[in-house]
Amino acid sequence: MKLFDAHCHLQDPRIFSKASQLIAMALDSGVVRFAVNGVSENDWHLVKQMSESYSSIIPCFGLHPWYVAERTPNWLDTLKQFFETTPSAAVGEIGLDKGSRGREIHFMDQVEVFEQQLNLAKELGRPASIHCVHAFGDLLQIMQRMGPFPAGIILHSYMGSAEMVPEFAKLGSYFSFSGFLMAMEARKAKRILKMVPSERFLLETDAPDAFPKSKLDSLRLVEGDSSLKELQVRESISISNIATLSCTGRDVSALPQGTLNHPANILHVLSYIASLMEMNKEELAEELLWQLASLYVRLDLRLPISGVALHLELGTQRAL
Ligand SMILES: [Zn+2]
Repeated sequence: MKLFDAHCHLQDPRIFSKASQLIAMALDSGVVRFAVNGVSENDWHLVKQMSESYSSIIPCFGLHPWYVAERTPNWLDTLKQFFETTPSAAVGEIGLDKGSRGREIHFMDQVEVFEQQLNLAKELGRPASIHCVHAFGDLLQIMQRMGPFPAGIILHSYMGSAEMVPEFAKLGSYFSFSGFLMAMEARKAKRILKMVPSERFLLETDAPDAFPKSKLDSLRLVEGDSSLKELQVRESISISNIATLSCTGRDVSALPQGTLNHPANILHVLSYIASLMEMNKEELAEELLWQLASLYVRLDLRLPISGVALHLELGTQRAL
């Protein structure tokens, strides 16, 4: 089974020093591509470097709404330079946030920075990975005014309403689901999944965040350390290992603060979503891979390998 992690942050300082091990383990678990999203001017160079070291990484550059206040006067020029020198890059992570953290950033500033980047994505014909928290109405209005987006919009970790799905899909959106969906009431999650057209469906881990709410004995953990000095990767955790993390019980919420998500946990997101959709997970994984191949072919994104080669490499059965 081969999988595509449509949105993660392997350059995150909390896991950067262990990224090569995380990637190797995730590749072993069948993850063939990772869309690694930068979040601020401080990490774009790391994303670029990683994409040059690992052919499995699709680089994405963007200014995340949480970091809007820290931008330098030249941020947009710097961003444009990254796209000029990285033809295989997509735009992300960009977006709007009216949640507890986003409320600290002036919303009009968020909108201005978001629109500039969305405009850039459109001009360059690249897909954009969008973060949206409690601002779906604003997002839809902006996309309706600026869209459609034939190069594709990835609504990352989609938690909007089922009713808005067709509106976003009309404008060129893909819907990417993460472990956060597991925290949503199953009935509500099912309604959303039902509305998503099968060719617009993606999976992601958002690692190192969005730890899936799943059985601990099968999850992979990255033990975070706020000092960033001692990150320990636990390849497979058993209940006895959990004890050494001074955690009792099988509940994810009982894990120590700072425990981080591993990109290989995408398998748990896949299993959960397949069960909600009453699909076999291998079947769903094949559908999703087709999305990856068709997304990049349709987008004419100059990936290190051509769409057709990607199609062959991934072993998707259908003709492009
Ligand atoms: Zn993210």
